[in-house]
Amino acid sequence: MFAYLDSAATTNVLKEAADAAYAAMMEGWSNPSSRYPSATAAAKQVAEGRAAVAQALGCSPKELVFTSCGTESDNWALRAGLYVNRRKGKHLITTAIEHSAILETCKQLEKEGYEVTYLQPTAQGNVSLDELAAALREDTVLVSMMLVNNELGTVLPVKEACALVKRFDRKILFHCDAVQGFLKVPFTPRSLGVDLLSISAHKIHGPKGIGAMYIRSGLSFPALITGGGQENGLRSGTEATSQIAAFGVAAKLCKATFRQDIAHMEALKQYTLAGLAGALPQVEVIAQGEAPHILALTLPGYKAEVLVRVLGDNGVCVSAGSACHRGKPSHVYAAMGLTKPQRDGAFRISFDRSTTVEEVDYFVEQLVKAKAMLFPTMS
Ligand code: PLP
Repeated sequence: MFAYLDSAATTNVLKEAADAAYAAMMEGWSNPSSRYPSATAAAKQVAEGRAAVAQALGCSPKELVFTSCGTESDNWALRAGLYVNRRKGKHLITTAIEHSAILETCKQLEKEGYEVTYLQPTAQGNVSLDELAAALREDTVLVSMMLVNNELGTVLPVKEACALVKRFDRKILFHCDAVQGFLKVPFTPRSLGVDLLSISAHKIHGPKGIGAMYIRSGLSFPALITGGGQENGLRSGTEATSQIAAFGVAAKLCKATFRQDIAHMEALKQYTLAGLAGALPQVEVIAQGEAPHILALTLPGYKAEVLVRVLGDNGVCVSAGSACHRGKPSHVYAAMGLTKPQRDGAFRISFDRSTTVEEVDYFVEQLVKAKAMLFPTMS
C-alpha cells in the first residue's frame, strides 16, 4: 500500500490539469504574442488561465502576474518592494517562521545593507501583534508575513497585522506568502488588505514550475524581468502556456470543491489525532494549527529522521520537519523553543482533497511498527 501524507510538500497533479497542459503543448503551442489565429488562440488560453486563478484567489486578472514558483514571487516581492520605498528607508519586518524563500532572501538583503527584524513566534507557533507594533519604525519600508505556516499549520493574523501596519504608515508595503493558504483557508487579497501576495500551483494539484504574484491594483511595481513586455511588462519572457493552462484548471476545480475539501481535510486531521491517541499515546501535537491540512507532531526522544525513512521504505510519505530544509534542523521548531527531544522527534503529516482514511490507517499502523522495530526498548 502507498500512503501519501506530505501534501504540504507538493500535491498530485489533477488529470484534468495535466490534460490541459498536454493540449496546450500539442495543439495550442503558438506564441501568444504572434499575430495569427493560432497565436490568438494561445493568448486566449493564457487569459483564461489567468482568469481562473484570479477567480479562485478572489482578485482581478489584471492583478495577477505569473511567475515560475512561489519562491520567485517571494523573492520579487521583497526586492521590488524595497525598491519602491527606497527613499523611505532600509528596514523590513518579517517573522522567524517564514519559509526559506523569504528568510534566505532576508539574509542576503542584510549583507546588502538592509536591516531586518524577525518577529519571534509564540509557544503556539504564531506571532504577536504587539511585537509587530513595537518593531515598526519611521524607516520601515516593507512587512512580509505568511498566511499559513508550512511546518505547523498555524494561521497568522495577516489581516490584523496589515491593518496595524497601514495605520502606522500607509506607505509601508505589506507582502503575504500565501503559498500554503491558497485554497486551504478562506481569504482574498483584498479581505487581508495586502499589497502583494504569493501563490504556487503545485500546492493545489497543478504542475510545478508555475506560481503567481498578486499585485494590488494601483500599486506601481518594478518589473522582475525586462524584455518583450509579457505579463503587462512586469515579467517578460514567452508565457509558460501549458503550465498556465494547467494552473487555471487546477485552480478552477479546487475552487469548485473548496468548502467540502476543507471539511474533508479537517475531518482527516481529527481522525488522525484520534487514531494516534489510541495507538501511540506518546505522540504530542506541536501546534494546534487552524489550517485543515497540516499536522505537526512529535514523538519526543525518538529520531524522526529514522522513523520517516523506515516509513518511506514501507510506502508511507511523511516529512521530518519541512521538505524544503533538505535535512537541516527546522528553524521554526528552534524559534518556538521546543526541547531537543521534541525537535528530534518532530514530523509533519499533511493532507489534500484526495487523501483517504485508508491512507491514515496505514500510516498509523506503520508508525507503530516502525517505532517498535527501531526503538524496542523504549515505552
Ligand atoms: N512559501 C511557503 C509557505 C511554502 O510552503 C513553499 C513551498 O513549500 C514556498 C513558499 C515555495 O513555493 P515553491 O515550491 O512554489 O517555490
